[in-house]
Amino acid sequence: MRDSEVVTEPDCVFCDIAGSRSPARFLYRDSSACAFLDVDPVRPGHSLVVPNEHVVDLMAEGSVAALTGMARTLHFTADLLKKRLDADGSVPSSPTALRPARPLHISTSTWCLGIPGTLD
Ligand SMILES: [Zn+2]
Repeated sequence: MRDSEVVTEPDCVFCDIAGSRSPARFLYRDSSACAFLDVDPVRPGHSLVVPNEHVVDLMAEGSVAALTGMARTLHFTADLLKKRLDADGSVPSSPTALRPARPLHISTSTWCLGIPGTLD
């Protein structure tokens, strides 16, 4: 990832969050991607993983670095959610691939065999 040349899109809510221009409850962030809680969660721990760089085409320059960063972020986020919510697991649930032309992101949430905890 080229930290000094991160490509963003002016009207993209994910770019605004990743660039700290919009508020979010971050679970994890590094130089290439971040994870934050969804504002309208469908399950405990429902969160989004997005690259810091705006990506809509997996064949575009920078997409490999974005995907690599997202994979690392997804791994750390899943581990955090599992521990903090005492969940049995955490799974990616909504890859962007099903929605063409939208910014690259992965939705993730926990699954529990018992009663889930909270992040607060
Ligand atoms: Zn974006």
